[in-house]
Amino acid sequence: RGTSPVPPDVRPRLTVLSGPSGVGKSTVVSHMRKVHPEVWLSVSATTRKPRPGEKHGVHYFFVTDEEMDKLIANGELLEWAEFAGNRYGTPRNAVVERLEAGEPVLLEIELEGARQVKESMSDSQLVFLAPPNWDELVRRLTGRGTESAEVIERRLAAAKIELAAESEFDTTLVNTSVEDVARELLALMEVV
Ligand code: 5GP
Repeated sequence: RGTSPVPPDVRPRLTVLSGPSGVGKSTVVSHMRKVHPEVWLSVSATTRKPRPGEKHGVHYFFVTDEEMDKLIANGELLEWAEFAGNRYGTPRNAVVERLEAGEPVLLEIELEGARQVKESMSDSQLVFLAPPNWDELVRRLTGRGTESAEVIERRLAAAKIELAAESEFDTTLVNTSVEDVARELLALMEVV
């Protein structure tokens, strides 16, 4: 690896936004990017099938199981995890390049991946996005209308476990307003 042109003490940290599925992570992130399009967001690889409107290379790199096996075997992922029957992972090189160029980097990933990032990059900051309350989370998970009952069940089970993990995070943001949370996140990333 080459030497960084940016001294480590002023290099932006890697910020990891995590929290239960359906808490509104992607809504917060897309609002944030509308206000600050220059903020770079890592595009994950996933074995999940695209939802309507999702674009390859924009929302995710949609890969086959075999392609995911290769990414993992070749060490190309900074972290990866299985979530609700699919695998998701963060391509390592793009993240490292951005950080070394002195740009802030945001990952929007589930809990297990967030733990792995903390292990391998201890100076990263972990931000937990919490729902205002449990009922609100159930409402959001049920209300998306794109998932089967079985998938929603699995996501609720995962969400219960994820909620308990809040204490492992550096910061908690409660998702009462998308605008407020996006602003708080930007401040944590030292973009504003
Ligand atoms: P969805 O299928 O709703 O897009 O994402 C399901 C979950 O996977 C969300 O909690 C999302 O944050 C998480 N996720 C997306 N990309 C990654 C990734 O690269 N790594 C990990 N560990 N989780 C991810």
